[in-house]
Amino acid sequence: MAIRIIRIDEDPILRKKSKPVTVFDERLKILVDDMVETMHHADGVGLAAPQIGILKQVIVFDLYDDDGPMALINPRIVDKTGIQIEEEGCLSLPGRHGMVERPYEVTVQYEDVTGESYELTGEELLSRVLCHEIDHLNGILYIDKQLEDTEKIAEKV
Ligand code: ZN
Repeated sequence: MAIRIIRIDEDPILRKKSKPVTVFDERLKILVDDMVETMHHADGVGLAAPQIGILKQVIVFDLYDDDGPMALINPRIVDKTGIQIEEEGCLSLPGRHGMVERPYEVTVQYEDVTGESYELTGEELLSRVLCHEIDHLNGILYIDKQLEDTEKIAEKV
């Protein structure tokens, strides 16, 4: 395992679209392990592969609960409900925070590192993290969606 360098600020790779993973091999497992280690080292709750300069559709997250760190390969949102507005930050935009509207709940289809297909439904923080990290795979940063002069609200619809 190795800690990789996190790309920040105006690095153009953060604005590129990532490609789907088609080969589920040992290199993918190493990438996932390195992403988890890099995320933990930076005290983050999520990390997307382009943030370490790899344009592949891979995200990891860890809410530091019983589920532990998880890796999602080729994640895509297949359902979303409700609205939440909360403060968000990003390891690639150090020192910045902003309010962002996200779905209260999302359902994501993905593969694991072996290529097996799964579905995951997350609400509140997990929904936010999934949306934020999947945005990274499309070259989108939270500042693109940041709201001006908003109160912190979260509501279930
Ligand atoms: Zn981010």
